[in-house]
Amino acid sequence: MPGFGRFAPSPSGDLHLGNLRTALLAWLFARSTGRGFLIRLEDLDRVKAGAAERQLADLAAIGLDWDDPVVRQSERLPLYEDAIARLTAAGRTYECFCTRKEIQQAVTAPHGPLGAYPGTCRDLTENERAQRRATGRPAALRLRADITELEITDELLGSYRGAIDDLVLRRGDGSPAYNLAVVVDDAAQGIDQVVRGDDLLPSTPRQVYLATLLGLPIPQYAHVPLVLNTEGQRLAKRDGAVTLHDRIALGESPAQVRGVLAASLGYPNATTTSQLLTGFRPDTLPKEPWRLDPDGLLQPWSGP
Ligand code: GLU
Repeated sequence: MPGFGRFAPSPSGDLHLGNLRTALLAWLFARSTGRGFLIRLEDLDRVKAGAAERQLADLAAIGLDWDDPVVRQSERLPLYEDAIARLTAAGRTYECFCTRKEIQQAVTAPHGPLGAYPGTCRDLTENERAQRRATGRPAALRLRADITELEITDELLGSYRGAIDDLVLRRGDGSPAYNLAVVVDDAAQGIDQVVRGDDLLPSTPRQVYLATLLGLPIPQYAHVPLVLNTEGQRLAKRDGAVTLHDRIALGESPAQVRGVLAASLGYPNATTTSQLLTGFRPDTLPKEPWRLDPDGLLQPWSGP
C-alpha cells in the first residue's frame, strides 16, 4: 500500500513563490510515486487569521490537489500528549526551567554541538526541581537523549550527519514543540515521504531519533533547495511581488506562475500539472537554490 506525501505549511501569512515551489515539489514526488498527498496546517504558533484558507486557495489555484482531511495541529493536542506520556513513562523526559537567555549564556554541552542544550536541568534532584517549580516559572519538557549525533539518508542529498540534543518536547507555554508534533503526525497520517525545504535538514536527525524512540516508522526524506533573493538570502515577503496574490495583481495568471515554478525546476515547456507530472524526474532536479529576482520574473514562454 503506497503511503502519503505531504505539505505542512505554518499559516503565518501568504505562501511565497519559494513555499509554492516546495509544495509543487512535494506534490510531484507524491503523485509521481502513486502516493496520496496530504496538507497539514502547522498552527501551533505564528498563526495569522485567514492565512490557512488563503494558503489552501493558492495551492489549489496553481493546480495542486490533495486528499481529505486537511488537518490542523491545534486540533490534535491529545495525540502529542500521548506521545509525551509514552516518552515520560520510559524515563525519557525531564522538566527544564531555563530561560532562553540562560541557555545562550551557558557553555555548550561538553560533547554536544554548538548551540546544543547544555543539560542544566537534566540531573536536578527532586528537591531542586521542587524549588524551581515553586518559583512559578512554567517548565518546558525536554527529551533525555542518549546520543549526540545521528546520520540520516536523504533521497536528494545522500547521507547527512546532524546533531541531537535534549530537544524540547513541550514548551513552557504548554504547546507541543515542532519536532514532536511533526513526528507524531507524519506517523499517524501514514506519511512515508517527507519533501520539504532544506532549511529543515538539521531537524531531521532529531525527528528520526524521536520516531525511533516512539517506535514509529521512519519516512523517506527529500530536502529541496530553497528559493533565494538576488542577494543570496532566503526569499521573503520584503523582496517584492513574491506571493500569488502579488503576481496576480501584476496581471499574471496562477497557471503562468506555475509555469515559472516549473521552469525553475527544469521544465520550461510544461504548461499543465499533468505534463509536469509525466516528465518529473527527481534525479534531474537542480541541486542549487533558485535565485529569484521578483522584478525580473519572465514568463517562460514570453522569451524569443
Ligand atoms: N511547518 C513547517 C514550515 O512551514 C514545515 C514542517 C515540515 O515540513 O516538516 O516551515
